[in-house]
Amino acid sequence: MSVLDAFSLDGKTAIVTGGNRGIGRAIATALAEAGADVVVANRNGPAGKTAADELADETGVETLAVECDVADEDAVEAMVEATVERFGGVDILVNNAGIVVHEAMETMTLDEWRDVIDVNLTGTFLCSRAAGREMIENGGGTILNVSSMSAFIANHPQRQVAYNTSKAGLEGFKNQLASEWAEHGIRVNNIAPGYIATDNADQGAEAVENAVDVWKGEMLHEEIASPDALGPTAVYLASDASAYMTGETVVLDGGYTVR
Ligand code: NDP
Repeated sequence: MSVLDAFSLDGKTAIVTGGNRGIGRAIATALAEAGADVVVANRNGPAGKTAADELADETGVETLAVECDVADEDAVEAMVEATVERFGGVDILVNNAGIVVHEAMETMTLDEWRDVIDVNLTGTFLCSRAAGREMIENGGGTILNVSSMSAFIANHPQRQVAYNTSKAGLEGFKNQLASEWAEHGIRVNNIAPGYIATDNADQGAEAVENAVDVWKGEMLHEEIASPDALGPTAVYLASDASAYMTGETVVLDGGYTVR
């Protein structure tokens, strides 16, 4: 067996929330290229269906699109049921769906705060619980949460306290869940990107003038990365290549947090 065989996801089934665009799409593509069948679970049904069809055409794996708001308990349960019905189980869950609100603390509404926590944190809880029950029954699996460097640093010049709180929460979630589910053969790790060129980062760039220049000045690489930059690490964390790794976070931020 060559070292590259450990990265193979042949015969695995992966759910990627928000797998239709941005970072989720790049991760879904990477997992599919490594051999996994992929379920795209996102809010916008037609966009998810298009993405899932394109993914199948591009990579040759089986795909399924399920319209699902990750903050809706019933919708999440139904999404996992649809996955099991189609593929027989869940081996990999990527909790990627996320939103950001750029609002100063003093003017942020309770609804804005709740929206961010509901999607980024409670959505991760709901998806992990539903998929995890299947993994427990099937003898194991891997959970990968898309956290952020914002779990560890203060972003500026934009305001986003709810977002950073939610991502910091994912660190505690990952630590504790990795501990509790190790006995079931389920590994739980986080990937923490820096600034990546997606709609999410565009929102930050539009929130404050010259934001992108400020960001670039704080990185060692001085560039906003493509979502594709995360694909290889996602495959590593989802596959047996990282079999001895759980409860960890891999930071990919172009050297932002080190500076
Ligand atoms: P995008 O805004 O490009 O994509 C967000 C994705 O999340 C979409 O697929 C969207 O689906 C989905 N989504 C949002 N809310 C829900 C919900 N309630 N239920 C289901 N799906 C939902 O953002 P990114 O690709 O940049 O973000 C992906 C993840 O990466 C997020 O968790 C984000 O916090 C994280 N991240 C992003 C960074 C960046 O610089 N871009 C940096 C660090 C972390 P739909 O199209 O249907 O709305």
